[in-house]
Amino acid sequence: MPLEHYRAKRDFTKSPEPAGSPRRRRPSKGLFFCVQKHLASHLHYDFRLEHDGVLLSWAVPKGPSIDPAVKRFAAQVEDHPIEYGDFEEVIPEGYGAGIVMLWDRGTWEPEVDDVDAALRKGDLKFRLNGYKLKGSWVLVRTRFGGSNGWLLIKHRDAWAGPIDIATFAPLSVKSGGDFEDIVGAEAPAIWESKRPARGGVAGKLLAEVLERAARKKAGRAANAARKTAAKKTTTRKRVAKKKR
Ligand code: MN
Repeated sequence: MPLEHYRAKRDFTKSPEPAGSPRRRRPSKGLFFCVQKHLASHLHYDFRLEHDGVLLSWAVPKGPSIDPAVKRFAAQVEDHPIEYGDFEEVIPEGYGAGIVMLWDRGTWEPEVDDVDAALRKGDLKFRLNGYKLKGSWVLVRTRFGGSNGWLLIKHRDAWAGPIDIATFAPLSVKSGGDFEDIVGAEAPAIWESKRPARGGVAGKLLAEVLERAARKKAGRAANAARKTAAKKTTTRKRVAKKKR
């Protein structure tokens, strides 16, 4: 699938997302993979595998699970440009408006000879070597959830366990921060009028993120004021000393 679907959905004069160059080969060894935690109208995790110069993409509402007993629904979405793999930013408006966090990244290796054939068949086995996700996995097509429905399942190995990895390791592998740190200095002015999510779980989560961002911003301002005041005091003392 070329990037037309990706581009058609977005206005790059308004979105900070990369338009992407076609069929780009990455210079590094190994195939790239990433997971982007995306707080938009709904919280979800975008699972992406480099293949043929693009990132094959699935939206996983509950995020990947390293517990082999837990099958996670994954809706295949439009291919994304390779450049998207490093993206971590606020999308202020338009398609996908919200906050994108680079939740995991690394390399992947197919455990099949022919990836295209495996995708057609609806059974892609592979290995991940990320910071959080490792070992053997499978994406299998399911007849639930329309024609784009897949299940992401961890195979039983040394990297599997009864741990909720999304809760256990919630932060960015790029910046080390949380959603409010990505919102950063723009908070809380951003989305004063038109929030990407209002009601429901995502709306509540976004409200909390913006509140935390505002608190951090106020904390930074207070710190800066304290430092300025401390500097003034030191200067005054120095002046007084000189006079003596
Ligand atoms: Mn998304």
